[in-house]
Amino acid sequence: MPMRILVVNAGSSSLKSQLIETDGKVSLMKCLAEKVGTPDAYMNVAFAPDFQKVTYHVADMTVAECLKKLLEVLVDDPESPISDLSQIDAIGNRIVAGGEHFTKSVIIDGPAREKLELCEELAPLHNPPADACIDMMAALMPSTPQVAVFDTAFHATMPAKAYMYPLPARYYDDYRIRRYGAHGTSHRYAAQQAANLLGRPLRDLGLITCHLGNGGSITAVNHGKSIDTTMGFTPLEGLMMGTRSGSIDPAILTYIMRREGISFDEMDAVLNRESGVLGVSGLSADMRDVLAAADAGNEQARLAIDMYVYRVQKAIGGFYAAMTRTDAVVMTAGIGENSAELRELIFEGLAHMGMILDRERNHVVGQIGVNRIISIDDSPIKICVVTTDEEMRIARETDNLVSQLG
Ligand code: AMP
Repeated sequence: MPMRILVVNAGSSSLKSQLIETDGKVSLMKCLAEKVGTPDAYMNVAFAPDFQKVTYHVADMTVAECLKKLLEVLVDDPESPISDLSQIDAIGNRIVAGGEHFTKSVIIDGPAREKLELCEELAPLHNPPADACIDMMAALMPSTPQVAVFDTAFHATMPAKAYMYPLPARYYDDYRIRRYGAHGTSHRYAAQQAANLLGRPLRDLGLITCHLGNGGSITAVNHGKSIDTTMGFTPLEGLMMGTRSGSIDPAILTYIMRREGISFDEMDAVLNRESGVLGVSGLSADMRDVLAAADAGNEQARLAIDMYVYRVQKAIGGFYAAMTRTDAVVMTAGIGENSAELRELIFEGLAHMGMILDRERNHVVGQIGVNRIISIDDSPIKICVVTTDEEMRIARETDNLVSQLG
């Protein structure tokens, strides 16, 4: 049975949503609200087929209030494919942190909702607004099933040697401080799409999936299971990202905090919002701007790119060592899908490991939804590009679970 699924992707200060018809895998409505919670907040809503944006001012609303406003638009707008909330069959919610409580997507019933509460402290900026959206929808549409899809769930298969930190054991015992990873839905999807491209079952393959977007993480997917990933207790660990530092010597934090007398929150903001590509280049978190500046001779921009590429190369090399076999490296998300220049820089340094890029194939501009192989034919390890659509993946997961309900 085709379903109309409302996908809700609530962030700390943003809301992304789509109404997806799962039968034809088509989007009927796309919504993006940004700067939520501030006087400058806005919400763009666009309907198929031409997706002309209409902007609504949603000043000082919470994320859940923006969602309520979106529902009003969905019911009232003459371009909307629905005129009543009962025409939405299910709701798919993206949840950043599932901790050890959730190892797969679930239908949100009473016990699941209680467990979601326990996960809030693991992602205090992201999980609470998502939970507030779930509660708001449950109040407005009590008989419509809701599903929670977790960023962390795919990494539940990591062995202890990968997820434990070398800290006193009491921190795990008392606070469950361990590595959880993130971008799980994206890594899972990228791995499955690569298996389809290679024409082999996922369970037979060793894959290194690289989600390189504004945030970035790399995962070792051995026989279909995540065995290690670069993000950790929070999405701050691992690669250098748009505005996040990724892994640095933890002693730097205490050193800077003592030298400058800054608070925990200020240090947190430096690491999460002022570092990474933005911090090093001093220009922008957007790789397109930084690539253009580097081409124009800006040395800080060039350094930021060199560092970014080097850290990706080291992570790929590390996971090559972690796996028993590597059949392909898979590139996805904003940078991984779109930047032929960065892919070339990354794989230039990895040819000796048997990952040999075909320069021409690399420069073909991809189409949304069309995956491709960009390594030479006899490259021992293939290089794939997979285009991703997080909301579509959440809709599919939701459809799977709700269909099982009958
Ligand atoms: P995402 O988080 O997956 O939406 O990725 C967003 C990031 O992708 C942006 O911040 C850009 O840095 C990057 N990006 C998108 N298109 C390109 C491109 N053609 N070249 C380089 N970077 C790109």
